[in-house]
Amino acid sequence: MRNLDIFNESKKYMPGGVNSPVRAFKDATVDPPVIKKGYGAYLEDEEGNTYVDFIGAWGPMILGHCDEDVVNAIKTTCETQIAFGAPTELELKLAKHICTTVDNIDMIRMVNSGTEATMSAVKLARGFTGRDKIVKFAGNYHGHFESFLVSAGSGVMTEGIPGCAGVPEESVKNTIVAQYNNIENIRCIFDKYGSQIAAVIIEPVAGNMGVVPAKPEFLKGLSDICKENGALLIFDEVMSGFRVAYKGAQSFYGVKPDLVTFAKIMGGGLPCGAYGGRRDVMEHLSPMGPVYQAGTMSGNPVVMAAGLATLTKLYNNPYYYEKIERLAAMLENGVKEIAKEKGLPILVNRFQSMMTIFFTNEEKIENYEDAKKCDTNLYRLFFEHMLKGGIYMAPSQFEAMFLSVKHTEKEIEKFLDVMRTFNI
Ligand SMILES: *Cc1c(COP(=O)(O)O)cnc(C)c1O
Repeated sequence: MRNLDIFNESKKYMPGGVNSPVRAFKDATVDPPVIKKGYGAYLEDEEGNTYVDFIGAWGPMILGHCDEDVVNAIKTTCETQIAFGAPTELELKLAKHICTTVDNIDMIRMVNSGTEATMSAVKLARGFTGRDKIVKFAGNYHGHFESFLVSAGSGVMTEGIPGCAGVPEESVKNTIVAQYNNIENIRCIFDKYGSQIAAVIIEPVAGNMGVVPAKPEFLKGLSDICKENGALLIFDEVMSGFRVAYKGAQSFYGVKPDLVTFAKIMGGGLPCGAYGGRRDVMEHLSPMGPVYQAGTMSGNPVVMAAGLATLTKLYNNPYYYEKIERLAAMLENGVKEIAKEKGLPILVNRFQSMMTIFFTNEEKIENYEDAKKCDTNLYRLFFEHMLKGGIYMAPSQFEAMFLSVKHTEKEIEKFLDVMRTFNI
């Protein structure tokens, strides 16, 4: 069947033809290719078209598609262990590996997605502090848990307004939305609600409003304010963990989060998530403590094996991070040069191998308000042009693009070559 035949039939059986909305390319006027296989830095669709992949399954595929070691780990594990709902040594190995190689993780709990990790971390923070309110930042994404689906408002101490149908006011009334990179805003919020705030959750390098890194002094200030007020600081490293560095975004900032959430890369491409952090906080989880959180599939052996193969390979090959940083810099510089030659209004935000191309004449993008001002229609035209040229990148500017260790100069050149033929 051809791409379009499959996608159209999918629409009969799955809302929008997809199991997660971004895949539908709704902001674009093209239909998404239906992917048949992936190898290294490449994807192939049902019609045999190949693409250089800059989405990487939205982050997880840092080793490239179907990495030999990950495939072997999955194969050998599933011959004898698929699911038990019982303790296994594999889950210990992955837990121990993460606790001993990443900072500030004394204990960890495995779950099945990033959403599960963040919602559980917030529940734990509430259970630990005995407080109800949480602070999140406009433009930060923490999954589809109700309390996080709050619109940005004007960015200044917005009371929770549901940003999604089906979310009762009740679910968001304890969510306070703050402006990213604005420490004054955080101070105001804590002056008013300080004693009621259980936790602040933040993407230390935001990737879900396009790439927008936190400023170091902002994160430092945020951490101090949380401490002064007895609120927990939760770093959502679902995207940035094992991506911007093996030890994640926290390793760049010298700030100590109380809890950290992971997913994406840590599952090696299989459904996975985890949250971990301070021992005294983690010990509030059942069966040790009163905060109930469970999962039939949590710590699944096949998933643990894929995660362990991925993380040990990354840990044992630190030069991977240097390599993808170098290629990402090459991509950034190339994009900027072409933009200049062609007079395209482009601004690139990049943090290691996470990058977004914004279409704007502004000098900087530091928060959601800035990101929303960009020309998303021009981005759409660019995206469609790139896709036709065999470059698979995010269909929306409010996403990141990713490189894998399987990308080389050749794939970066290909991106730049296709970009050179883009005209407004
Ligand atoms: C992807 C993402 C999530 C949600 O993870 P899922 O596995 O899709 O539920 C949460 N937080 C951040 C920062 C993410 O990038």
